[in-house]
Amino acid sequence: MYRPLPQATAESRPFWEGCAQGELRFQRCGHCARPQLIPRTLCEQCQHAELAWQVSQGLGRILSFTVVHRAPTPAFRDDLPYVIALVDLDEGFRLMVNMDHDPLAATPLAIGQRVRIGFRQVDGIALPHAHAVPGDRA
Ligand SMILES: [Zn+2]
Repeated sequence: MYRPLPQATAESRPFWEGCAQGELRFQRCGHCARPQLIPRTLCEQCQHAELAWQVSQGLGRILSFTVVHRAPTPAFRDDLPYVIALVDLDEGFRLMVNMDHDPLAATPLAIGQRVRIGFRQVDGIALPHAHAVPGDRA
């Protein structure tokens, strides 16, 4: 079954190259110092083009999450049910990411749960995922 995979663009290539090396990379504006993750050629805050790539420590907290029970395409049916979370990274940017967490597990996820970003090879591409840091809740 064909799984849709991310295609690197000129803007996102450094992000995906970072994933392949086990690094979660993000952009920081050299003008206003704000971080952003969806890679762009301009700062989404001040529109300056002085963006530099930095490496995140990969630690953050769950802002929100959902359990997916209905696959968006047949390629994801075997994964059901699975968890997608919005994670606020400590450096101040946000990432939507699959959680490495069984939604039927005895220990449920919670808003504010501390997580760490890891990487998994899927069809030749390193994709980020998040897993809960045990015993650390907001
Ligand atoms: Zn800026």
